[in-house]
Order: sequence, then structure tokens, then C-alpha cells
Amino acid sequence: MPVIKYSKNLTAIKHYDVIVAGGGPAGICAAVAAAREGVSVALVERNGVLGGNMTAGHAGPILGEVAPGGMRDELMGLLGVPHNHMPGVVGLAHDAERARHALTNFVNDAGVEVYLQSPVSDVIMEDNRVRGVVITGKRGMYALAAEVTVDATGDGDVAFFSGAQSVCLHRTVTPRERRVNTTQESRMAETLGVCETRRFIGEYVLKDEDLAAGKKFDDAIVHNANFIADIHNPEGEGQAEGVPEEVKPYDIPYRCFIPLKTENLILAGRCISGTHRAHASYRVMTICMAMGQGTGIAAALAAKSNIAPRDLSPALVRDRLIDLGVKLEA
Ligand SMILES: Cc1cc2nc3c(=O)[nH]c(=O)nc-3n(C[C@H](O)[C@H](O)[C@H](O)COP(=O)(O)OP(=O)(O)OC[C@H]3O[C@@H](n4cnc5c(N)ncnc54)[C@H](O)[C@@H]3O)c2cc1C
Repeated sequence: MPVIKYSKNLTAIKHYDVIVAGGGPAGICAAVAAAREGVSVALVERNGVLGGNMTAGHAGPILGEVAPGGMRDELMGLLGVPHNHMPGVVGLAHDAERARHALTNFVNDAGVEVYLQSPVSDVIMEDNRVRGVVITGKRGMYALAAEVTVDATGDGDVAFFSGAQSVCLHRTVTPRERRVNTTQESRMAETLGVCETRRFIGEYVLKDEDLAAGKKFDDAIVHNANFIADIHNPEGEGQAEGVPEEVKPYDIPYRCFIPLKTENLILAGRCISGTHRAHASYRVMTICMAMGQGTGIAAALAAKSNIAPRDLSPALVRDRLIDLGVKLEA
């Protein structure tokens, strides 16, 4: 294919302490958690509505469990489904329309600056450091700069544009074609929800055996996550493995959110560092919300102290989560 060289001067319209790309369950919690730490935050979302799969994707109910006391509990209250702790059983689903309003108020009340209809199309790099994002919208291309960027796009677009190493999607027999797991379809959704696309390699890869053993980590920022390994049947309805495997409540360490080699970038949501089977459990919305809260606090702490997220002590994030009432040690 011929290569065309294209260069353009972009206006960097604003500098933030933290940019969160992607306004799904993980991104919303990351943005609000960071803003509540007193830093300036932009939340950049490609759709015209916040919520990701929770609203535009019409996915529900909000499944999974994590240690109580976190932002997930606060959000469930706002959505009107406060007692929805489920490792897999059918339960009360949120109202997607109510969620749109509740989530908008949630981020606005925290002072987050929201950019809707704003797909991130590239990153600003300085060596291996992410310095900001490029957005392509109706006003053309422009840039937002930040000390720390959180990639909560689900597909890991920011990490991909930065050159971070991801696990290959399934190859097919057709050259250059890749297959993603889209084995369920939500009715009347504005966007096609995708279960699994890119997973990035981080400082630690959460493994199948960690979930089976209910492994605990000293640097955990998500504690007692719990949901079945929900691997959809690529041939049609139901589960790929017949009966889905139960897991024991497990931790997700801070290292899973820090991509190898790329600096000033934190992963959050379903694109974090884990195996295919681990992802089949931690991708549910409750667990993604808990990831968002932890990573948002990490991003704010790193930005405030002007250090790379990789060099931030996870103990500081844990202490802050415990201060806020998250039962990290229960
Ligand atoms: C069909 C289906 C059914 C599901 N059912 C359930 C269920 O019942 N219960 C449950 O708990 N989980 C369910 N899940 C899983 C769950 O919805 C997702 O794994 C979860 O929403 C992931 O959260 P996230 O914040 O990482 O990503 P997402 O919810 O995907 O949010 C990512 C956000 O980033 C935005 N974005 C993407 N790219 C860009 C870009 N380049 N620039 C700016 N913004 C961008 C997207 O528009 C989106 O708003 C389901 C998933 C699917 C596909």
C-alpha cells in the first residue's frame, strides 16, 4: 500500500492534569475520582452520551462484585439499583435513560470538563511519554495536553496509538483480518458492544490461576473482585465451555494498569493487562468501575507530585482508597 506523509500544526486548546479517554463505567469513575482529588480533568468521549456499554450499548444488569465502600456503590445508588451484588445470577437491571442523566450529573458535580462527540484519533508523544491526545471532530483536529492520561476506551485506543504492546486479536484465514469477540448483540443500542478487543501487556498480567486461587496482592487497588469466567460461545448462544467457571474473589494489582514501556499512561477497564480468561471475569461493569476509581486516584496523585504513574507507590493509592471508605483489607 502506498504511504502518504501528512503533517499538520494542531492547536493544543487546553492543558489538564489528567485526561481520561473513554466515558464508559471505567472512564467515568476514573475522571470523577481524579477530579475529587483536586486536579483538573478532561473526559473525552467519542459518543454523544456518557456511559459506554452501560448506556449506548444497553448492556445490563451491572454485574460482578468488589469490596464494598467504593464509587461503584455510590453509582448504584444514583442508578436506583443499590442491592445488585451478583457474581452471575440474573438481577435488577438499571434504566439506561436514567443512567445517561445520572452519569452526566455525576461528572459535572465533580467539575470534570467533558468533551462529547470527540474521538481520540492519535496521541502526542515525547519519546515514550504520552503528553496528550489528538481529537478529530467537526472542528477538525485539535489537541489536549495532560500530565497523565488514562485509557478507558475499552479498545485501548490511546495505548494502541502510543505503541504500547498488546495481545494480538484472533487472526483469521484472510490476510490482515482480525476477529473480535462480539458474540452477544444488544437490542436498540446506538453502538455495537464488543466483549473483547485489545488487551495490553502491563507490569503484571493477571492470570487464570490468580482468579482460580482468589489471589491477593500487596499492591491491589481492586479488592475481592468476583464474577464467573464468562466466555461466550463464538458459534452462537450460550457459553463456550458449557458451564462457566466460578472464580474466588481476587485482587487486581496496580501493576496491571501500567503498560510496559509507555510512560504517563494508565490503563483502566477491559483493556488492562490480563489473560483472555481473566478478562472474561474482570470486564463486567462493577469491576471496571472499581478499576476506574483506583486509577483515577493514581493519575491524580502522579500528576500532583509530577512523577510517572509507574514510579508512584501503590501504597499511596491504597491509603487514599481506604480513607475514602473502600474496604480494601476486608
Ligand atoms: C453485548 C454485551 C453485553 C454485556 N453485558 C453485560 C452485562 O449484562 N453486565 C455487565 O456488567 N457487563 C456486561 N458487558 C460487559 C461490559 O459492558 C463491558 O465490558 C464494560 O462496559 C467495559 O467498561 P469500559 O469502561 O472498559 O468500556 P466501555 O463500556 O466499552 O466504555 C468505553 C468508552 O470509550 C469510548 N471510546 C472508545 N474509543 C474511543 C476513542 N477513540 N475516543 C474517545 N472515546 C472512545 C466508547 O464510546 C465508550 O463510551 C457486556 C458487554 C457486551 C459487549
